[in-house]
Amino acid sequence: MAARGSDIIATRRYLHARPETGFEEHQTASYIADRLRKAGLEVQTGIAETGIVATLKGGKPGRRLVIRADIDGLPIDESTGLEFASTNGVMHACGHDGHITMALTAAEVLATISDEIAGDVVFLFQPSEELCNGAVAMIEDGVMDLVKADVIIGTHLWNQAPVGYVGVNQSTVFAGADLFEITVKGHGGHGAMPHLTVDPVVAAANIINACQTVVAREISPQEMGVVTFGSVQGGSAGNVIADEVKLNGTIRAYNAETHKAIRESLERITAGVAESLRATTTYSHLAGTPPVVNNPDVANWVTGVAMQAAGEDSVGELDPISVGDDMAEFLNRIPGVYFILGASKAGTEGHHNAKFDFDEACLPIGTEVFVRAALDIEGMP
Ligand SMILES: [Zn+2]
Ligand SMILES: [Zn+2]
Repeated sequence: MAARGSDIIATRRYLHARPETGFEEHQTASYIADRLRKAGLEVQTGIAETGIVATLKGGKPGRRLVIRADIDGLPIDESTGLEFASTNGVMHACGHDGHITMALTAAEVLATISDEIAGDVVFLFQPSEELCNGAVAMIEDGVMDLVKADVIIGTHLWNQAPVGYVGVNQSTVFAGADLFEITVKGHGGHGAMPHLTVDPVVAAANIINACQTVVAREISPQEMGVVTFGSVQGGSAGNVIADEVKLNGTIRAYNAETHKAIRESLERITAGVAESLRATTTYSHLAGTPPVVNNPDVANWVTGVAMQAAGEDSVGELDPISVGDDMAEFLNRIPGVYFILGASKAGTEGHHNAKFDFDEACLPIGTEVFVRAALDIEGMP
């Protein structure tokens, strides 16, 4: 494994310099597919546009382990100053370049020792994680029938945990996340004669305030919930009452029931407040993912594997993190684990920041977890 260290870093830097956003990952996908074909895997491309499934047949018959990696970048103008920084206005600011690198390297390592594998290893490269819609698109495109998975694993590197650390949670890893849009419709007119109008700005302000009570008054104090309105758009001038205001926001919760309850409360409060002020609303669920929840039996297995790769003292459980990830869609259908790989690097910012970076020393560790897992398919629950 150590011998591949420089290849790992070269791969990561090559990918980092060439990020692409959701469903646009054409160059990325062809790079991945080429390397997988060269390694001798059976490769299927074009699943949900840019998704890939590649199968490595083991030397002995057995069950099927899926290793999933997401491949998209974010529409962020990189300002890390790295010599391999992206210059195309898109940035691997979440570490998905690292995810691709680890899965690809594991595939190449395993291809050279495939006779030692008792089963099949399926590599699933997923587009458009950041838009919360790539996993669902692959599922709608029939990926479940292609992979025929017994167990699925994947990792997200995390630059707020130290390098060397591997977090394998027994249950919840990441929150469920919704993106929503509320359109508040009134009746515009002269700012001097509000009585002849229905003011959607005032209705929107009341809606935003009233929605703060969902987490404060309707969710158990034991449960985590977040409601954020990140964007308010409406109106064109100080003396004109607008026809319409658009509110965009996000919901987060660790528990699927809580997640659903928050969404229902927002719809109810939005409609009720609007009606009381003579406005009307439409609530649109734009995209979303359920909470990312590990299977405890697979978690025990991955914990053992990770201890071999990273050392016993380096594997633990971390508090769930309020970000979302559509790995949840696969984990809702296949028993599996999303483990967290520590990747902190001094002087960098967190995920989704233009100054995000991670310590590349995490890459051989994550790769080794994948390789050791594939060599222990017989040990899977
Ligand atoms: Zn992200
Ligand atoms: Zn991510």
